[in-house]
Amino acid sequence: MMLLFTLKDRKVSRCTLFDIAHMKENRTEFGFHRTVSGTAKDVDCCKHMPSYLVPSDLERLSSRLGCNPLELAKEHLLASPGSLIIERGVPRRVPSLVLARNPDTGHCKFLKNGLCSIHESAPYGCAFFDYAMPKAEGNERSLAGINALLDEWDKDDSSDYVLLWKILKMSNKCAAGPEVCRVALDE
Ligand code: SF4
Repeated sequence: MMLLFTLKDRKVSRCTLFDIAHMKENRTEFGFHRTVSGTAKDVDCCKHMPSYLVPSDLERLSSRLGCNPLELAKEHLLASPGSLIIERGVPRRVPSLVLARNPDTGHCKFLKNGLCSIHESAPYGCAFFDYAMPKAEGNERSLAGINALLDEWDKDDSSDYVLLWKILKMSNKCAAGPEVCRVALDE
C-alpha cells in the first residue's frame, strides 16, 4: 500500500506544564509511544489541518469532554473524505473523523490561546506525531492509523466509527480533504 497523503497529516501536540503533569505516562497506540515536544510549525497544523481520530479516540475524548460518542461527534467532529491511498494498485479514500473547526477562526476548536486545551486526551493524529520524528517512523505511524481505519470500514455499519462518520456526512457536517487543508498549511 502506498500512502499519498500521510506525512503532512502529522500534528505535534503542544503542552503546558499542567498538561505534562497530568498526562498519563506511557500512553501508547499501535505499539507507539505518544510524543510530547512540539515546534513552531505545530500551531499551523492546529490552525489549518486539525487532526484525525482513530477508533480508540472516541471513548477517550468522550470521557474527557463528559459526553457520549454521538454527542462528541455532533458537537466536536466532522466527516473528512480522508487520506488518499493506493490499495492493490487502485486509488481509494480512507474516510476519517476529524476535529471540528472554530467557526470564527477556522482553526481546530480545541486550540485556545495558542495551546491545545485537550492535550492529555488529544487524538492519535495529534498525539503520536512530531515534526522532529524521522520520516520513516512518521510513515510507520501513519500506516498504523490508516490500517486501523481500514479495519473499521471493513466492518461498515457494525463500526461505531463508521456510523458516526455517516451521521455527520448525512448532516452535512463535513471537513475539506487533507490535500485542501495542506494548501492552506503550506501558504
Ligand atoms: S486537538 Fe489540540 S493538538 Fe490536535 S489539532 Fe486540535 S489544538 Fe491541535
